[in-house]
Amino acid sequence: MTPHLVSPNTVLANALHHAEDVLTPRILAAPPERIVLVVGTQINGAPHIGTSLVQALSFAMAARLRDRFGIPTEVLFSALDNAPYELSTDPASGHRYQRAYAQALGDQALTDLVAALYQPLFTALSRRLGIPHRVETYTQQQAGEHFRRTWLRLLPRLDAARWWLAPSTGTPHVRIPCPHPGCGWSEKHAERTRVRLTDREAAGVDAVCLHHGPYQATITPTTSAYLDLATLYRNLVKELALTSTGVGGTLHVMVKGGDWIFGSLLVDEALQAVGLTRAQLPARLFCPQIVTDTGAKLSKSLIREGHAPLPEGTADWMLDTRQWPGTVAEYADQLLTVAETLLSDPRHFFRSYSAAEIGRLITAPAPRSVSAP
Ligand SMILES: [Zn+2]
Repeated sequence: MTPHLVSPNTVLANALHHAEDVLTPRILAAPPERIVLVVGTQINGAPHIGTSLVQALSFAMAARLRDRFGIPTEVLFSALDNAPYELSTDPASGHRYQRAYAQALGDQALTDLVAALYQPLFTALSRRLGIPHRVETYTQQQAGEHFRRTWLRLLPRLDAARWWLAPSTGTPHVRIPCPHPGCGWSEKHAERTRVRLTDREAAGVDAVCLHHGPYQATITPTTSAYLDLATLYRNLVKELALTSTGVGGTLHVMVKGGDWIFGSLLVDEALQAVGLTRAQLPARLFCPQIVTDTGAKLSKSLIREGHAPLPEGTADWMLDTRQWPGTVAEYADQLLTVAETLLSDPRHFFRSYSAAEIGRLITAPAPRSVSAP
């Protein structure tokens, strides 16, 4: 029993029989040995329904691709611990400073946070569909030799991409947190952060701390200084790194919420500006966005700060999934049931949903319509 759902036709939906067909040209052009669906989430407080839905859709899409093409698929969850934990203004310069989750919480607390807030749902989704998954924090990703080498190799070519990465200023931000013990603040907009390549394998960074004044850091493929990049810049490096490891036949599919469509246009231009051909760009899958009554993205922070009202029909658990009135296994089942509904027709997938409508779909009586592996 599928909850009654009506969706309008669109150009894209009309061109497809199945939602996953949007990836078919990429799969046929260079049949991969493996497909990895990459889904990133900012680690800033408890997940809301939009986060859970994109995660569930990643697993559901992975299962459909596996069944349709007979290719092993998996999900890579990227936990973005570089999200700002606290912000401050330097009274002397007026510059904004931030301290990210990674620096504010430290490794152990961060691992515990991901284990508590995300791992149980991932484990449940993974088991339900028989799709393996991995969790990687941004701390681990940026520390990886390949990621850092990719950034160092990009630096001499950055001029070609910088206006795509930062169309208003031409300066994509690099943040290297102050290394002073217990500090970790960095200039949010990197006004006084200077990066220079000192040789092929090393970059020197000069920056100014809110509390400790000027400091220097060296980035090499193996040194540990935390390398934080503005969002589009980070996506460029991440996707370049994946592309250059994809020689062995892995197709990476970047799974994102629908609000990323516009930003991804800039990333794609930046990737081509530094030398990728269109065929080398990563595959992308944009998931339905959850919106408020005004049509804007459901934003927990806007509601929490009182800038936007709680949309009618939004239950508490939809903004903080820890308050879901049931077990994680039940939550995973309900999410997968909705995921199957959304994936059952391209018209249902390539559109947005109001918070009230997605709440209705998730809490509708759950049929056993998602088959076990
Ligand atoms: Zn400092």
